[in-house]
Amino acid sequence: MAGAGAPAAPQAADRFDVIVVGAGIMGSCTAHAAASRGSRVLLLERFDLLHPLGSSHGDSRIIRDAYEQPRYVRMVCLARRLWAAAEAESGYRVLTPTPHLSMGPRSSASLAAALANIGAEEVLADDLGGRWGGAFAFTVPDPSDEWVTALSDHGGVLSATKAVAMFQSLAVAKGAAVRDNTEVVGIEKGPGPEGGVVVRTRDGQAFRGAKCVVTVGAWAAKLLGSISGGVDLPIKPLHTLHLYWRVKPGQEQSLSASAGFPTFSSYGDPPVYGTPSLEVPGLIKISCDGGPPCDPDARDWLAGDPEVTDRVARWIQEAMPGHVDASGGPVIRQSCMCSMTPDFDFVMDFLGGELGRDVVVGVGFSGHGFKMGPAVGKILAEMAIDGDSPTAAEADLDLGFFRIGRFDGNPVGNANKDQ
Ligand SMILES: Cc1cc2nc3c(=O)[nH]c(=O)nc-3n(C[C@H](O)[C@H](O)[C@H](O)COP(=O)(O)OP(=O)(O)OC[C@H]3O[C@@H](n4cnc5c(N)ncnc54)[C@H](O)[C@@H]3O)c2cc1C
Repeated sequence: MAGAGAPAAPQAADRFDVIVVGAGIMGSCTAHAAASRGSRVLLLERFDLLHPLGSSHGDSRIIRDAYEQPRYVRMVCLARRLWAAAEAESGYRVLTPTPHLSMGPRSSASLAAALANIGAEEVLADDLGGRWGGAFAFTVPDPSDEWVTALSDHGGVLSATKAVAMFQSLAVAKGAAVRDNTEVVGIEKGPGPEGGVVVRTRDGQAFRGAKCVVTVGAWAAKLLGSISGGVDLPIKPLHTLHLYWRVKPGQEQSLSASAGFPTFSSYGDPPVYGTPSLEVPGLIKISCDGGPPCDPDARDWLAGDPEVTDRVARWIQEAMPGHVDASGGPVIRQSCMCSMTPDFDFVMDFLGGELGRDVVVGVGFSGHGFKMGPAVGKILAEMAIDGDSPTAAEADLDLGFFRIGRFDGNPVGNANKDQ
């Protein structure tokens, strides 16, 4: 880690138990989990630490337990315990609890399953008008389909960049070495009886590790497709936006986290989500899933901008017209990338092939992984150190759903399986 008081830089001759490649939320949580087990850990990052070029930067991410697939409800539950433990260990506060409001057409099977999984309480139209100063007007719904809104206690806002910093500093406190501006270009089998892996960097260094965990976000298909013995992963990076809008004067309090305003997600079209006014006074984040495909090394930073911002502006004008001013467009737009798998399920597996179980892969978090970072990190660290994850087993998480092999001869992966 650069800067005064930083620990001694790792030397290429050093041997590590676990080398983690990529210091977003997943790599930082993995480094912390492995270092907490007493492993000698090296965390390598291609850009500056906490840079804004990947998927984990920014002011906020939603944590919610409203998921259609029970496995993610369980994973969020595990992650919540680990978020609380990391806050207690570090003294940082990164999670602001809020309720979570789910909304959408009653005919949506995904919404119905998500609400059933968490026992969310339906909010009747009359009640909605009395909550949060009548912020939601709901003229949005298709009149041919009844609209449903339901509230659960388990939402929340995570401070994204701060959370990544928290896990990096916890990892360093447990003895991990961290090196930024170090791009990994090769991962190969270690020579001789010692085996393990050799991790090679663009500037010509080679680090020896017993195991390696690859958490490179949107660069997954590029890196893992280019190394000898790698795999072709069907992961597509999308260019997506965080949008902040002006709260109308006088409505600041009703949209605030302190007044109990919820995080929310709409299962309608467009698939909009939002957080309470929190991180920037007078502004509220309301964004939309999706965006155009992108090459993480050659991004068009304005791609998709007018289409996405217009869709969200129209939604605001119809759903929250008295509270949010969409007339001048978003006040802040932050670019980000989502790494989409065909079934939106994560990839957490051993690489296989000639690198076998010495390389663990944690990628393809499909735009919904941040909240589960500490659970993913613990699972990946255990896979690297123990060859399996007791934590996943205890949480009743079947790692079979996250295997790379689900795409063999089956381009849709889990999309055609029972959840
Ligand atoms: C607009 C947007 C909104 C989102 N909202 C939510 C939300 O509300 N809730 C939620 O749970 N999730 C959300 N997500 C998803 C979540 O942010 C991601 O799933 C998560 O951040 C992925 O983290 P990561 O560590 O896999 O990737 P990254 O953060 O991109 O980390 C990968 C790191 O690897 C580094 N790297 C790449 N190649 C190399 C190399 N060769 N050598 C060394 N380092 C390398 C990169 O520089 C990067 O730092 C959202 C995502 C976006 C884009």
